[in-house]
Amino acid sequence: MAREKLLLTPGPLTTRIETRRAMLEDWGSRDAPFIALTAELRRRLLDVVHAGDDFVAVPLQGSGTFIVEAALSTLLDRDAKLLVLANGAYGERMLKIAQRLGRSVETLSWPEDQAIDPAKVAAALSERAGITHVAMVHCETTTGLLNPLAEVAGVVAGHRAGLIIDAMSSFGALPIDLRSLPVTALLASSNKCLEGAPGVAFGIVARSALARCAEISPSLSLDLHDQWRALESSGQWRFTPPVQVVAALVEALRLLEAEGGPSARLRRYQASFDVLAGGMQRLGFELYLDRAVQAPIIATFRPRAGEPFDFDRLHAALSDKGFIIYPGKLTREETFRIGCIGAVEPADFERLLIEMRRITI
Ligand SMILES: *Cc1c(COP(=O)(O)O)cnc(C)c1O
Repeated sequence: MAREKLLLTPGPLTTRIETRRAMLEDWGSRDAPFIALTAELRRRLLDVVHAGDDFVAVPLQGSGTFIVEAALSTLLDRDAKLLVLANGAYGERMLKIAQRLGRSVETLSWPEDQAIDPAKVAAALSERAGITHVAMVHCETTTGLLNPLAEVAGVVAGHRAGLIIDAMSSFGALPIDLRSLPVTALLASSNKCLEGAPGVAFGIVARSALARCAEISPSLSLDLHDQWRALESSGQWRFTPPVQVVAALVEALRLLEAEGGPSARLRRYQASFDVLAGGMQRLGFELYLDRAVQAPIIATFRPRAGEPFDFDRLHAALSDKGFIIYPGKLTREETFRIGCIGAVEPADFERLLIEMRRITI
């Protein structure tokens, strides 16, 4: 087999060999060993964000978007009114999902290079009547922008609204502590900072809120309340779980603990990001975002000024050398993205920069 390529993308990502090896076994989904594995999964997911007894972890088959859709369909009843805070494609996706579900939804938007402003959220909640829930993206993977989660959570809690967080590209690396953070639901998936294989997503949901949500979801397979009740009563998934992917995620969570938890992982990502951003700047590629709002998860770069830029050529040339990068996702400006997450380290970015210099010279 050719040497494996490093995935410097927003996910799926490069995973450790131990994580991939955990997928070699077959599991009976209704047998005791898999029931124990599911219980370990749910316990470890809660531990990552210091969630106590007032939260439950509910895993769901599918990619990240499935858990966002499941959470909105389960938590928003017919009388709910959602305010989506949007400054990128994933915020816009939450709006689209709520609209498809036929739920009452409004947005408050910012440009893609600006963080959500908690003061504007507070003003909107005071001015607009009847908002029951607020949804936001923690790290907007569109650009790599970090939104002020704690500040927004404080504002939303002050208005007694529920808060739904898309923590897809932050869970497992950026600090999230549910002992002090008032949220209703925190949503993420297996294949980003947790460094698992793709195919499972999950919600960490306030127990009391979820308990009130029986038979709200118009979808059976995406009904998080039903999924939760089945897991609680039998320890089993309702429908065929991706058993190998679950096994890989449990192994990835054990590796996260062994690495030193999210804070150690964040240090590794930050070190990689610093190597990347510094080296790219020396080659003339500037970061799209201001450093003050940049998370060390994924970097968006502008092409060099006054020079033609062909993403497909750069992608192919780097792929040839074993590095997969990602196109930009901005509507108004040409950019490209390089991810710092996954089982990669600063030395990998040193090697990337050597190739980058050769290709772009
Ligand atoms: C990756 C991601 C998602 C989910 O995308 P999928 O392709 O469905 O896994 C949602 N929100 C954010 C912020 C993401 O980074």
